[in-house]
Amino acid sequence: MNKNIHIQGCLAGKILWVDLSKKRIWTEPSQEYNNLTLGGRGTNSLIMLRNIKIGTKWSDPENLLCFGVGSLVGTMAPGACRVDVSTINIFNRGKGSANVGGSWGAELKYAGYDNLIIVGKSKKPVYLYISDSLVELRDAQYLWGKDVFTTEFILRKTLGKEDIEIAAIGPAGENLVRGSAIIVDTAKAAAGSGVGCVMGDKKLKAIVVRGRGKIEIADPGRFMTIVEKTYQKCKQNPATRLMRQAPLNLYADSEWEGWYTNMVTRNGQDDYWESTKRQRLMNSQNGVPSMIKGVRACYLCPTGCLPFLEIERGKYQGDKGEGFWINTIMGHACRLDISEPEAVVESWILTNQLGLDGDYTASVISWAFELYEKGIISQKDTEGLVLNWGNSDSFLALIKKIAYREGIGDILADGISLAAKRLGKNTEYYSSQIKGQPSIEPFRIPKGWALAVSTSPVAGRHLRGATMGSIRYGPKPRPGNFNSTDYVGQAQGVVWQAKTKELEDNLGICSYVSTWSGANFLEVSDLLELINSGMGVNLCEEDLMEFYAVKGRNLEKVFNLLHTNLSRKDDLPPQRFMREKVKKGPYKGVKMDKNRYNKILEEFYTLWGWDTQTGLPTKTGLISSGLAEVVEPLIQRGKLIEK
Ligand code: SF4
Repeated sequence: MNKNIHIQGCLAGKILWVDLSKKRIWTEPSQEYNNLTLGGRGTNSLIMLRNIKIGTKWSDPENLLCFGVGSLVGTMAPGACRVDVSTINIFNRGKGSANVGGSWGAELKYAGYDNLIIVGKSKKPVYLYISDSLVELRDAQYLWGKDVFTTEFILRKTLGKEDIEIAAIGPAGENLVRGSAIIVDTAKAAAGSGVGCVMGDKKLKAIVVRGRGKIEIADPGRFMTIVEKTYQKCKQNPATRLMRQAPLNLYADSEWEGWYTNMVTRNGQDDYWESTKRQRLMNSQNGVPSMIKGVRACYLCPTGCLPFLEIERGKYQGDKGEGFWINTIMGHACRLDISEPEAVVESWILTNQLGLDGDYTASVISWAFELYEKGIISQKDTEGLVLNWGNSDSFLALIKKIAYREGIGDILADGISLAAKRLGKNTEYYSSQIKGQPSIEPFRIPKGWALAVSTSPVAGRHLRGATMGSIRYGPKPRPGNFNSTDYVGQAQGVVWQAKTKELEDNLGICSYVSTWSGANFLEVSDLLELINSGMGVNLCEEDLMEFYAVKGRNLEKVFNLLHTNLSRKDDLPPQRFMREKVKKGPYKGVKMDKNRYNKILEEFYTLWGWDTQTGLPTKTGLISSGLAEVVEPLIQRGKLIEK
């Protein structure tokens, strides 16, 4: 199967290239790439595949840092705000990718660009200023060393403009901390794969964007009818009202099923967090929900899921910031056994301020806490910090030490694999890592979730197919059995969710207003109508799910096969979760059964059209997903099944 489409609307039309070594700036048309992929992450993946030579390291000037704005961003489509940030994955040399919302992407589209590709390295710190066709590299020496909040404040003050959008790194990215993020609009993080570290290595402190152009729609009348229909669908959904009025209510219910299935505690020693701690953290009277001062939304989002919090008491009084998600609870609370609401909120604000990936930070620090508990490291190694469970002062101190590479923070800043080599004593066993990237995800109880996280091409994160059994997740009617704790039917659900994520990332639609929240929000049929009317094409659902989505996944798979030695063994959950059982709670005694996991992994490979035993793609599979160009290079490396 090969699609031959010519997109006639929704695109800005150009790819902006910036070479930091040569100080050269140029553009090329984006049409051809977008016709092949539908845009966003797909286009980033194709650009990386075609332009990065095998053997390139993340720190080589030839590595690309690619910003791909989704093809519907800049239109009125609900939740169309997302940007994919792709680069060589710092943890394994494969495909790295992170995704971020806010208004930065729409601004880049209005400036005239679908993608921004950074190549080379600057000798001195610079920031990139984009205002429509004016694109300049400017000195950023005076910003180097500043945290994200201060950087944004200074840029807005010096540029004298409120209508700019900023993507910046903090001290973590400057200091080449592997778990560094790129922060947009002070709180939205493109985190994962070390994208902030790559930006820091290129000495690019920030990207400031302002755009005044417009986006043409192929069939405006039809498109707006569908926009109105989908807005109403989102707005009338009870979940939308819940998110807007009380964004943390779901977690405030201490009997919410996610507390029992998804919360890894004390660095993976258990998957049960005590009820008193849950209630203390999320109590509506004096827990995190009591700090909500408002709810914010990304560009043109009908939902809005971003609580704005202010700490009103205790030692962090007066600190405020946006965003507190399930990851905050999973990582900064349960993993560290910290139930003090103020400390957990403070830790989240701090990671944004310093430009750290919150998941990475929680994973490496909880690992250090367990090593301390086991006597493998001591106060001599931690500059006097006592790393006992629930010690929020030590947690916050370690966050700063990592960002500034001080003391033990310098070791933790290099990720767990390198740190474990330095420490020895089988310390890697206690880590939660997938393909080298530290993770905070559950691997024992929710089987489909574990499968999605373990097989994610960008390593260890849940938004590449994770499903749960609750009514919030997955397609309706659901394929197979969606009891999250069962093995049956999980591969089918994971592949469906991963395919919809491929589409959402190409279009720039937030998963939260789309299929991640269940079919009560945008469904694949809605995405199809937006694409056909907005882009002036004539596709069907099968084209989206069986061609573009499969192609998107294969693009990343092929990049990994060409650039790394990752194989089937790297699609398994961390060993610990297949050996040690849940110790307490309703799932006491549960672990991931290796044999049964291998069976669902085989089902998963089959559903993607890959070889059941090795997970390698087949020649016919790649050709039918429009990727004939990668067949020869894969054959040369012995990474293709020739059937
Ligand atoms: S649902 Fe939340 S993250 Fe998604 S676009 Fe809306 S506000 Fe942003």
